[in-house]
Amino acid sequence: MVSRVIPVDPFDLVIFGVTGDLARRKILPGLFHRFLVGQMPQEARIIGAARSKMTEEEFRASVRDTLLEFAKEAPDNAETLDLFLEQLSYVAVDATGAGGWPELAKMLRPGLVRAFYLSVSPNLFGTIAAKLNEHDIATPESRIVVEKPFGHDLASAQALNADLRRSFAEHQIYRIDHYLGKETVQNLMALRFANSLWEPLWNATHVDHVQITVAESLGVEGRGEYYDKSGAMRDMVQNHLMQLLCLTAMEPPSRFVPNSVRDEKVKVIEALEPVAQSDIVRGQYRGRDGEGSYRDHAGDDASTTESFVAMKVNVGNWRWAGTPFYLRTGKKLRARTSEIVVVFRDPPHMIFPKFDNQRGNALIIRLQPDEGITLRTTIKEPGPGGMRLAEVTLDMTFAEALGEHAAPQDAYERLIMDVIRGDQTLFMRGDEVEAAWGWADPILDEWSRSSTTPEPYDPGSSGPEDALMLLHRDGRRWREIG
Ligand code: NAP
Repeated sequence: MVSRVIPVDPFDLVIFGVTGDLARRKILPGLFHRFLVGQMPQEARIIGAARSKMTEEEFRASVRDTLLEFAKEAPDNAETLDLFLEQLSYVAVDATGAGGWPELAKMLRPGLVRAFYLSVSPNLFGTIAAKLNEHDIATPESRIVVEKPFGHDLASAQALNADLRRSFAEHQIYRIDHYLGKETVQNLMALRFANSLWEPLWNATHVDHVQITVAESLGVEGRGEYYDKSGAMRDMVQNHLMQLLCLTAMEPPSRFVPNSVRDEKVKVIEALEPVAQSDIVRGQYRGRDGEGSYRDHAGDDASTTESFVAMKVNVGNWRWAGTPFYLRTGKKLRARTSEIVVVFRDPPHMIFPKFDNQRGNALIIRLQPDEGITLRTTIKEPGPGGMRLAEVTLDMTFAEALGEHAAPQDAYERLIMDVIRGDQTLFMRGDEVEAAWGWADPILDEWSRSSTTPEPYDPGSSGPEDALMLLHRDGRRWREIG
């Protein structure tokens, strides 16, 4: 299989917050990799912006160090690294002040794709957007990229959208959810809409239920204070898990164009039924003897923020009525795994006896740690001794199936190239973000009113006992984590 790299048009990309963690770990290494494979043209320019005062040489030297640390190909590609650095410039700009903007304006070239990546705190989004307009830096074609968290409830998301829309039109705004940049997530769309095999089965008649799990083995060490203000519901469910749910449940769009895809995703969110508290389990990891507990990491020994959520969600539409979606995410679980499990119904008439541990057909779409697809199917157990059945998995790991061409492209680098190409398909539209908050808000409000606290669970476990019961009581079980 030949993977093709199609160079993008020359561009000016301004990265606000270029000295920050996200830019250093993801954005700059991603751009370097795109340069290395020949997708970033030599005329492209990356302009770093932050408040720190630095000369261009100092900036390039710091990016060199950053890439040697975070871009795994950098140490073996010293010459290419030097060429890449030549395409970098720096301007000191304080988002809240007047300095730096005229200099930035002068650096930008007319007639090229122009994009602004706001890798800064969300409270600066509106200010930077307004300054770009004030200083005539933004053109009607320029693009603006913003990072999560996109609000912490519906009202704040609406306010952020309003702030951005004062200066940019919706077709210029790229809201990143890096889960959408993952190869398997896009493969989910290919799997569903480029094959005739699955679509006839992709409904409540044939699908018993769907499980979406995003499990992390790490806790919140190091970022506990930040995390404690959000929790698993805001940090993961409202955005990443919701996106996975939408892509799994949505109707086929009429065309693979941004607004058709996003229209269908919004319809899924609008079809979600309110979730009863009895269908939600909140958890918080609690080390034995109090050691290594969430509360230690959060620096608050009375914190009631959830580090785990599991819930049963019903999509109230014709396709999915009667087929629940179970969502689960948490920190400090037994393994780092992200997957979507589509569990099919049993055959309508079984001519063989039930066998031990029978779970039924399932299609497992794995996002982490290795991207691929597994089909769980029933076969005859080999050998003599009568008709005994067993379940086996047909596994396709992309890395094995596609060889070097499956070299995982980081989600960020794909998404940045989509910005340059002007393709919004894998970015969240404003109404989509608001609809997701509109669904999450009542759950969060209920928690803030309630005196109940998250259920403790052991680090390294599969989460609280009640999360297992959420499926057990429906006669189902989670696929094991890891
Ligand atoms: P960070 O490490 O704190 O970096 C913030 C950057 O913003 C720095 O370059 C800082 O440089 C610059 N900055 C701060 N105030 C400024 C101002 N007034 N004017 C101009 N520049 C200013 O933050 P981060 O972790 O990179 O996160 C950036 C954004 O991405 C946030 O919205 C975050 O929520 C989001 N995000 C981050 C990650 C991640 O893995 N880090 C993941 C998902 C989303 P100076 O101090 O020199 O100005």
